[in-house]
Amino acid sequence: MTRIGILGASGRMGRAIAAVAAEGGIAVAGGVDRPDVPSEIAPGLSFETDATALARLSDVLVDFSAPAALDAHLAAACAANVPIVIGTTGLGPEHHARIEAAAAVIPVLQAANTSLGVNLLAHLVRETAARLGTDWDIEILEMHHRHKVDAPSGTALLLGTAAAQGRGGTLEELSRYDRLGVEARRAEGTIGYASLRGGSVAGDHVAIFAADGERIELGHRAESRAIFARGAVQAALWLAGKPAGRYAMTDVLGL
Ligand code: NAD
Repeated sequence: MTRIGILGASGRMGRAIAAVAAEGGIAVAGGVDRPDVPSEIAPGLSFETDATALARLSDVLVDFSAPAALDAHLAAACAANVPIVIGTTGLGPEHHARIEAAAAVIPVLQAANTSLGVNLLAHLVRETAARLGTDWDIEILEMHHRHKVDAPSGTALLLGTAAAQGRGGTLEELSRYDRLGVEARRAEGTIGYASLRGGSVAGDHVAIFAADGERIELGHRAESRAIFARGAVQAALWLAGKPAGRYAMTDVLGL
């Protein structure tokens, strides 16, 4: 049976993944978190001292921790020759370069959102953007719980990437993140973002296509973290045994 090792095991997602695995009868090798964080994932599961020790006990690792931990987690996965699913968001170009390097050695699946619904939404956003001209302004609105550290959310950027691809461009070329003050008018063809934070919202996203006199809104509401946890476990089981390379949720879901 495939054994999953959880990186960031004391966090909201780490605990959700342990719960989903327990419900599904899926084996968890153990977990790792920062040493100063209380060592509790789920009854009966062991806490390992570091990521390398956990990787050696696991058939696949699942990382929902923090960007600062990525290097150590990739190094542990490569040292133990174990595949890794990376769900952590807030990653920059330097992190993606390290993921590419690790993917030459082991299977790596990086996904800013592991839910089926959001990955299908990204597909719809790409298709919609491809069919509409730049007289349709694209804005992406997201809301998350008050503890979220990165903005815009990784999922907003996933949707922004899909919209940009639909328009034949890239996220970097078309995205505008700052709209403050008196020179805040939008430029034609750009993709704007708005991030709301508050309460316990697991994750709401809406891609708005706005033209003169009409508007299309494509959206997704996550009602609990269980959807991300189920997708992450599904991705981990799918990734175990694959050849080295970089994979995405669209590969798992056949989208
Ligand atoms: P959280 O803060 O509740 O949990 C993160 C955990 O990682 C914490 O327990 C923290 O102590 C631990 N951690 C930090 N640095 C570490 C290190 N060096 N080694 C080991 N553990 C370390 O956050 P969360 O809500 O569980 O989210 C975690 C990450 O997953 C965030 O980046 C979030 O945006 C992302 N996320 C992704 C998806 C998805 O579908 N891909 C869904 C939800 C959240």
